[in-house]
Parts: sequence; structure tokens; C-alpha cells
Amino acid sequence: MRSLLLLLAAAGALAAENRDAVFSQSIAQMFPKLVEIRRDIHSHPELPNEEVRTAKLVADRLKELGFTDIRTGVAGTGVVAMLKGAQDGPCVAVRADMDALPIKELRSTPYRSKNPGVMHACGHDVHVTCALGVAELLAKHKDHVKGSVKFIFQPAEEAMPATFKGDWGAKLMVAQGVLEDPRPAAIFGLHTTASVQPASTTDEVTQYLKAGQIGYTAGVDNANSDRFRIVIKGRMAHGSTPHKGVDAIAVAAEAVMALQMIKSRQTNTRQPLVISIGLIKGGDRENIIAERVEMGGTVRTFDSKFRDGVIEQMHRVLKGITAAHGAEYEMEYRKTYPRIENDRALVEATLSAFRRVCGEKNVIEFSPGMGGEDFSYYAQVVPGFFFRLGVANEEKGFIHGGHTPMYDCDEESIKTGVAAMAAAVCDFLDRVRP
Ligand SMILES: [Zn+2]
Ligand SMILES: [Zn+2]
Repeated sequence: MRSLLLLLAAAGALAAENRDAVFSQSIAQMFPKLVEIRRDIHSHPELPNEEVRTAKLVADRLKELGFTDIRTGVAGTGVVAMLKGAQDGPCVAVRADMDALPIKELRSTPYRSKNPGVMHACGHDVHVTCALGVAELLAKHKDHVKGSVKFIFQPAEEAMPATFKGDWGAKLMVAQGVLEDPRPAAIFGLHTTASVQPASTTDEVTQYLKAGQIGYTAGVDNANSDRFRIVIKGRMAHGSTPHKGVDAIAVAAEAVMALQMIKSRQTNTRQPLVISIGLIKGGDRENIIAERVEMGGTVRTFDSKFRDGVIEQMHRVLKGITAAHGAEYEMEYRKTYPRIENDRALVEATLSAFRRVCGEKNVIEFSPGMGGEDFSYYAQVVPGFFFRLGVANEEKGFIHGGHTPMYDCDEESIKTGVAAMAAAVCDFLDRVRP
């Protein structure tokens, strides 16, 4: 019996390897078109919830590939499409996010952004391209698909301001039923990454994650990612008579420094925490004491209870400092994205696909970082695996981190993204029977 099982396992592995080889040949043929698509999306970046052109490009391409079951306008500009394989079986989902960032691109590539001040600085252009690549590949090779695949193209991953009312992105997609009818038995997502902190060491080492490599964590993948807006309210006065007013700028300056003390002096140093103020606006004129300062920022934590304590401490700090100077404050705190927890069993079962596609040494476990991603909303409903696609290439100068004006991806990574995702999906459908 045991030898029979081993024999079956060996036959399964051989079949998967044969399939990888067939896929790899197809991907090589598809590659020039995929690069064209990626560059088209990259040069036409769109801000969260404004992905009209990108969504149209996605839907049009899916139609060209023969997809008939395509839903558009989901959660704003989202697109959801179903592919039915040659055999009946479970459903598995692939998610790609479509939005870009308000950053001015500094590279002068032929495919640089044509939208002033907007840039694909988080690689979502590559994510969409990889998902379209998987759609094309599996549509061509339905005989290898033992079930169905739901492709989810999502708007607004980069989040709306803390003051935005209502839900957006993945949370809204889930609320609008993208994980129902049929409910996928698992969901996979990838994210481009130029570097990671390897799990093999606790030293502060960042390592490039190169094109051809994949990074993963087996459980907690990233942080709870929140946003806040603070308004400090003072009282206006002539700049020459500050004592007649309450200087909101001076109070805000003290508050910015004191908020940093929460991390350094008020919380356990073993609990990861980031409090960053990313924007500050206030004042009207050089010789007027400012009446109002608005600040915005983000808080990152791993632990949810700890996070609640931090919010309380922020209130305490703001209350104390404003009271000391006769000012007032308001804080709008929004728990934005919960941390991603990869399903351990799904990760374990998927790694062999990645190792086949990339080679053993190119599949790298890393330590969770303080980033946030709304893939977590899907992974709260069905088992999820969010992995990183290496895009760095030192010779070509692709070494910059995401959310910076020099970010760019080695396009060779698209081949790995398509191959790894397709192998993960097909392995899953082979393995899990309804
Ligand atoms: Zn991002
Ligand atoms: Zn991103």
C-alpha cells in the first residue's frame, strides 16, 4: 500500500513537471505581448478607485482570450472573470490589484508614466500583467485545469484617506460577493518586491529578491496597517503677539515628537510598532499665528490588542500636550487593513510548485515586515497565500524599493510570476477534490 502511494506521488510529480515544461514554452511565446501589456499599464497609471482605463484593458484582454463570464464595475472598477477547466473540480482564486500612487516617476524609460504625478510605484502593473498571463496560459491549456479559476482584478489597494467614508478595495469586493458563487477553496496573490529580510537570520540584513526568485512567509506576513488624521486647533493672533493666540504649529511640533515617544518610551520594545506622520499642513501667512494644523499618518502593528493600547496612548499624548498649551485636538483613527495571515497548510503544499518553477534556492522565506495589504480581507474568508515576486536586478539598476519614484521591475519577473502562479493554481486543483 505504502509503495503504491509513493508510486502515485511520483507519477503526480512527474505529471506536474511535464505540465511546467508545457507552460514554460507557452509563457516564452506569450512574453513579448505581456511586456507590451505591462508597459501600456505602467505608462497609464491610475489612482485608487479611478482605474477606468486599466479595468477596460483587463476586460478587453479577457474577452480576446475567450473569457465569456466577465463581471465589470465590481466595487467601483473591479473586474471578476471565471475560467472553467476541462474537468470539474473546486474553484481557486487569483487576485491582482490595479491602482497606482500619487508619486512623480523619476525614471526616463520609454514606458514611463504619461499621467503627471501618478506612478505605478508599487508594481501593480506587473500584478495585473501576471494575472492576465495566467488567464491566457490556462485558457490555452484548459486540459491541465481540474476545476475553475476565478480571476479578481481589484481597485484601490493603496487605500483611501482616513477621512474617506465607506469601504473600498478588497473589503468592498468581499462585501459585494466576489468570494461567493462559487466560493473559491483558496486564494493566491503575489506582490512585486525588490528586497526582503531573510528569515534565516535575525540580524538586520536586507537581501535583493531578484527576478526569478520568490519570497514567502508561512504565517503572519505583514502588519495591521492603519491611518489617522489629527487636527490641532489653536487661536489666531498677529505674529508679533503670540501670547494673544494659541500657536497650533508650535503645539503640533511638540505633538509630532511626543507621538514618537510612544514607541521609544511607552511600549514594550519587543512589540513591533511604527508611528509615522506623513503629512502636515497648517498656517496661512508668515506673520499670523496659525489657528489650525492638520497631520496625517500611519500606525503599523502585528498584535491587535497592542494596537488598541497604542491608539489610547496617542489620545493621551495629544490630550496632554494640547491641554498644556490651551489648544484642542481631534483625531480620526481608521483601522485600515488587518495583517495578512497566510494559511500554513496552503503554504506548505504550494512550496513544491515554487521550487519546481524557480529552483530550490530561489524560494526564500522572509521575516514579516511592517507593510500592509488588503489581500488580508480575502484571506480572512478563505485560505490565502500571498507571496512575493522578486523584481530586482542589480545590473539593470532595478534595486529601488516600492513607493519611491525610482521603483521599477525587471520584466523577466513576469515569466516567473505567471509560471509560479499557474503552477500553484494547477497543483491546488490537482490536490483538492470537491
Ligand atoms: Zn503599495
Ligand atoms: Zn502594492
